[in-house]
Amino acid sequence: MSETNLSPAGADAASTAAGLMPIPGHVDPMTVPRPTLVEGVTPREDGRTDLVGLPRKRIAELFEAAGLDAKAAKLRAKQVFHWLYHRGVTEFDAMTDIAKTMRPWLAERFVIGRPTIVEAQHSSDGTRKWLLRTADGHDFEMVFIPDADRGTLCVSSQVGCTLNCRFCHTGTMRLVRNLTVGEIVGQVMLARDALGEWPKNAEDIRLATMAGLDDDEDEGSYSADGRLLTNIVMMGMGEPLYNFDNVRDALGIVMDGDGLALSKRRITLSTSGVIPQMERCGQEIGVNLAVSLHAVTKDVRDEIVPINKKYGIEDLLQACADYPGASNARRITFEYVMLKDKNDSDEDARELVRLLRKYKLPAKVNLIPFNPWPGAPYECSTPDRIRAFSNIVFEGGISAPVRTPRGRDIDAACGQLKTAAEKKSRAELDRLYAEKDAALAAEAQ
Ligand code: SAH
Ligand code: SF4
Repeated sequence: MSETNLSPAGADAASTAAGLMPIPGHVDPMTVPRPTLVEGVTPREDGRTDLVGLPRKRIAELFEAAGLDAKAAKLRAKQVFHWLYHRGVTEFDAMTDIAKTMRPWLAERFVIGRPTIVEAQHSSDGTRKWLLRTADGHDFEMVFIPDADRGTLCVSSQVGCTLNCRFCHTGTMRLVRNLTVGEIVGQVMLARDALGEWPKNAEDIRLATMAGLDDDEDEGSYSADGRLLTNIVMMGMGEPLYNFDNVRDALGIVMDGDGLALSKRRITLSTSGVIPQMERCGQEIGVNLAVSLHAVTKDVRDEIVPINKKYGIEDLLQACADYPGASNARRITFEYVMLKDKNDSDEDARELVRLLRKYKLPAKVNLIPFNPWPGAPYECSTPDRIRAFSNIVFEGGISAPVRTPRGRDIDAACGQLKTAAEKKSRAELDRLYAEKDAALAAEAQ
């Protein structure tokens, strides 16, 4: 991890500056402070309002409050929405269908922001990682993984995480705060900036819109028009279902045909198993679901994914069976990190098949070789063991590909994301985990 990261002292100072309180132990992880949000608007020191993250309706309200009549405000909001999210412009001057005299009026009152890039890293395998900073000084990460037939952007939903899956580096951080709608959609916008992928002319726009809206599109059509960024996974830092509203609103803009216009079929949200939000996720967001299962017995899952103490395996699988929109054409992905001598036996593989069959789940299993980080308490299973596990699941009738680790050399692989280069001692980590466990236990009662 980069030496340019905030030191713990720097991070604390930034929190204090933003008026953030440390998160006490016994709180529901959902009730995190969101001091930077005033009715969905991020305040800025220069008094102007950042429009990124706002839906059309809210932009229209702001225009009206700034003096336009209701009809003009609505029309301008529609135009500005298109320029912001579909064309990716960052200057009002570039909005050519808005009168020249109107543009300075907008620029005096509003800005089109992006998260700040602190550092951009390139892996030898083509993976790219960006260290980003919010306006109030918190660092988070985003990763782009190019493949032959697709390009996947791994987006963060929180700075840190309240949960503490024992194999995950992000889990060794406290939750600093939820990312705002603008900070989440801003990651996708930044990636389009960096990859030079905003549609520029009418033909580009037609293709982008078609690719986003046509649900029956053939799998190759989006990349066929030359785009690199074709898919989004909510698998960066944080638990997206503990920041439900902001994730929903951000993905709403990403999926809007006049916004970033990416099909819901190309978006996957990964959860550690926050059961109460799963149905809403299917209904209100409608994206593909991935579930971090990682173990098939209570003992092991309690240890490695401690939210299991609150929401157990069988209830989780039932919630998956009830997930709106899941079908054989849109299967649920079960993520399974391969940890040596912990969850990787033949018996575990057979139990996995039994459980997925019992709940009649339209499932695929994604086996993730454990990505190490300094001080991690586990080792990755051997390649032979992973192959044997995969074969058993496959023979059980469920596809079980092994995910190739990407970007390990720049700490960009699954579970390696972590900002604020604080080196915690074992004792400090144990204390932090005990606090997070206690918060979960208090909720479970
Ligand atoms: N919080 C969400 C999404 C982020 S993590 C979740 O837990 O699902 C994305 C995936 O990477 C999850 O399946 C997570 O369990 C897995 N992961 C975390 N740490 C890992 C590590 N060190 N090696 C491999 N996979 C890891
Ligand atoms: Fe949080 Fe997901 Fe990491 Fe678990 S695996 S600590 S839920 S980011």
